[in-house]
Amino acid sequence: MNDVLFLIGFVGLGLLLGSFTTALAYRAPRLIPWAFGHRREDASQGVNISAYRSICPNCQTVLQPRDLVPLFSWIYQRGRCRHCHAPISFLYPLIEACVLLCVLIAAVILGWQLKLAFVIAAVPFLVALLFIDAQHMILPDSLMLPLAMLGAGYQFALQAQAGLQPGPMLMNLLIAPVFYAGSIWLLSAFMTKMLKRDALGFGDVKFFAIAGLWLGLSNFALFCLLSGILGVAQGILWNISGRGRAFPFGPALIVALYVLLLLPVAACGICDWFLLE
Ligand SMILES: [Zn+2]
Repeated sequence: MNDVLFLIGFVGLGLLLGSFTTALAYRAPRLIPWAFGHRREDASQGVNISAYRSICPNCQTVLQPRDLVPLFSWIYQRGRCRHCHAPISFLYPLIEACVLLCVLIAAVILGWQLKLAFVIAAVPFLVALLFIDAQHMILPDSLMLPLAMLGAGYQFALQAQAGLQPGPMLMNLLIAPVFYAGSIWLLSAFMTKMLKRDALGFGDVKFFAIAGLWLGLSNFALFCLLSGILGVAQGILWNISGRGRAFPFGPALIVALYVLLLLPVAACGICDWFLLE
């Protein structure tokens, strides 16, 4: 009985966060603030949106609560808006299904622990960034910043649990992201010289810093290895599908970070490193 309640609870949470993620994935690349409603000047920029509420991009009708679970409403309305019958992208139910799956996998693998709360809170930002980078080849700061703050919060919580003093805690918090981003920036500069074209975007370098916050120093090699393998696989698929030579590296980085967060190795890299001393 407890297992059934556990499952129902996390399915509900997954659908709720999935709906939130579709709003993130629509708003962030269009520079519409996602967190605190909309400023007045947005209207003058041609973004006509009522504060706080999601709208149909075609007819501007404010969506009702029953429209806000894309997985169900999209299937029920056969991929069309309830009001103007304009077709709605299949990406919205796909995004929601991805979030639901990521939340359920995390809940089953991690079980009740502090890490689960942080990983689930990160899922909407990870999935939104993945779809945005694949579509627009950008990793918007408005979604990277909350992901970084969650990572820092996660490290703080773990290190406080381990009884570390604020001084070493702050050191730990800074070393890993600087090391991750610095290494990849050097590699990217070297590859750009060798290949004579831009190897990595600055967004990717920033994402490495965020991965450093979440994973700690000791998982650096593992993160590089996994994201490298995924990146090559993704590059081949990208090429086969005829989308050109330049491809976004973000999706490979995002999947690698999520997978490593589910493994026990990625508990708290820097923390146990320091405790050994
Ligand atoms: Zn509409």
